[in-house]
Amino acid sequence: MKAGFYLGNHTYAVQEIPDRGPESDEVKIRVAWCGVCGTDVHKFQGKNGASIVIPPIILGHECSGTVVEVGPECRHFKPGDRVACDPSYGCGKCEWCQKGFPNFCETRHGVAKGFADYVFPPEQNVYHIADSLDLEAAALAEPLSCAIHGLDLLHMQSGTTVVLYGMGAVGSLMLQIVMLRGPAEVIVIEREPAKRKLALELGATSAVCDSEIEAISKKKNFDYVIECIGLHSTMEQAIHVAGKNAKILLFGLGDPEKPISFNQFEAYTKELSIYTSYLNPHTTGRAIRLLESGQINTRRIISAELSLEEVGAELKTLENVRKGKVMVRLSGEH
Ligand SMILES: [Zn+2]
Ligand SMILES: [Zn+2]
Repeated sequence: MKAGFYLGNHTYAVQEIPDRGPESDEVKIRVAWCGVCGTDVHKFQGKNGASIVIPPIILGHECSGTVVEVGPECRHFKPGDRVACDPSYGCGKCEWCQKGFPNFCETRHGVAKGFADYVFPPEQNVYHIADSLDLEAAALAEPLSCAIHGLDLLHMQSGTTVVLYGMGAVGSLMLQIVMLRGPAEVIVIEREPAKRKLALELGATSAVCDSEIEAISKKKNFDYVIECIGLHSTMEQAIHVAGKNAKILLFGLGDPEKPISFNQFEAYTKELSIYTSYLNPHTTGRAIRLLESGQINTRRIISAELSLEEVGAELKTLENVRKGKVMVRLSGEH
């Protein structure tokens, strides 16, 4: 079977690795599609993703596909089932898993390296999807589940004013779930004109540049500010423009070497709450139900469909990553 590796030193290569059957409760899945995540780009650039990276590693973790074989202890799946994966494994036994936080599991590891013909996650990480759900759309269950977890933390009230930074792939998903919560107004901040247009299409009230938001913040109280870019300047600005009693979610993955700063006195006088969110505990099932409901526009945010080989050049140029979600075609089934 083929797999797409990050070899270290900004090098990507597709290599042949031995195929195998599923063991214990593993589910062998023929991967149909796998999304390219910002964390894959971070890994390729030599930074860490959601965890420490030691190459060589197979990239990709946002995958869907069809079950081809199951291990002897697998109970809930059979060949032919259409599925999506939660790539993040929690052991279920350590202190953090027992407390209900599998994202902090002491032995947490990736179990669905999706830039490959097959993945072998344990069945606890595999989810059935409805026949009506396209397999390519189902591969977005993982980024959507992360966005859902972030938004859950805010306990967003309806009838409020929301500012959302960034209309990249995850920002576009975040905007759509924000819209489902009944905000009174959503202002998207985005420098790319084409993405500002997309924001309006997906329901935002207005879309402006970051240079314009400070003036608007003087006239309006922003109740929620959600940062989905991870740039130093936009993360700092997100905290600065937040209104009184506001909740801020720093969702974009920042540079671990460059911590941000903010005026704690200003934050004090506004009684700000600053949230971060890490991975997707207990949200994969809900992400899949939401995709099945047809309320999330996935077509509009996919910018390219590439082969396992083509994605190497893409990781260097980020031509399509900048426009939206890049999907890697494995079996290409729908
Ligand atoms: Zn991801
Ligand atoms: Zn654990």
